[in-house]
Amino acid sequence: MRLGLLMLLLMFVAVACKEEKKAKVIRLEEKKVEVPSFDGALAYRLVAEQVAYGPRVPGTPAHDSTAQWIVRQMRKRGLTVHVQRFVATRHDGVPLKGQNIVARYMPKLPNRLLLMAHWDTRYMSDMEEDESKRKLPVLGADDGASGVAVLIALADALVRDSVAAGVDFVFFDLEDQGAPNGDPNSWCLGSQYWSNNRVPSGYRATAGILLDMVGSEMAIFRRERYSEQFAPHINEKVWHMAGVAGYRPYFPDEVGPPILDDHVFVNQLARIPSINIIYTSPHTPKGFGTHWHTQKDNMDIISKEKLRAVGLTVLHYIMHYHAR
Ligand SMILES: [Zn+2]
Repeated sequence: MRLGLLMLLLMFVAVACKEEKKAKVIRLEEKKVEVPSFDGALAYRLVAEQVAYGPRVPGTPAHDSTAQWIVRQMRKRGLTVHVQRFVATRHDGVPLKGQNIVARYMPKLPNRLLLMAHWDTRYMSDMEEDESKRKLPVLGADDGASGVAVLIALADALVRDSVAAGVDFVFFDLEDQGAPNGDPNSWCLGSQYWSNNRVPSGYRATAGILLDMVGSEMAIFRRERYSEQFAPHINEKVWHMAGVAGYRPYFPDEVGPPILDDHVFVNQLARIPSINIIYTSPHTPKGFGTHWHTQKDNMDIISKEKLRAVGLTVLHYIMHYHAR
């Protein structure tokens, strides 16, 4: 993903100014709800297992093996899995074979929640200070594996407690192969394809939550600005739930920058109101963690506690606002 374009930002700033005049009157859920436990140790192991394959760059054996691994993880927990294969073109003309993986929990329930993450990793470390390392692919412990791991561990929690909730997990491919300062549409190729060719066909959901870079020990989650414009009601509830779960320090009540990520296309093309939980930093020149798109995005920076904080927050959201 990348920071949003100035044009889009200005557009939303205009909307934001209008919105500010309205007082916040959203009444948030306060009832007592049983929330299943979230296994942070499992999520951590699931990050490590993906990283052990090596960088999940399209066209490599590691990429293919990891797709099969995700399918196995979801099938062995009893979910219904569909693999959507597609071909897309990288910004420099290289053809890429992609696989979006859709796993459905309690598919017969009509009210659907869409949980998303990208599973591919970037083909180059273009944010490396050391020029000799810029051609190396990113290992993506945080940028790729963390979101996938939390989604699988969430499925694990729902299955373990037989939670009655319609939840679909979509693992997008080809999110992170875009042009550094070029065409914004060169990013998020998997979510663009899925949003235009939904599996299952005509798929709808009442809400969507995207997880991206949710596993590093320094991560802080501010409300992402496009999410705040597209789906402020979901942001409001998720951040409220983070407080209920005891994670306010990790989820401060602040709005961060707009990030061009899979949720933007899901909002615009599939018209499913969706938010992004993503680590952005006000203290680094790049706006993300210092490991972003470098060789430092490895297991050394992954925190079990942070994975658990995000997983349990989403689980609280499911139990308070989505489960029957
Ligand atoms: Zn990335």
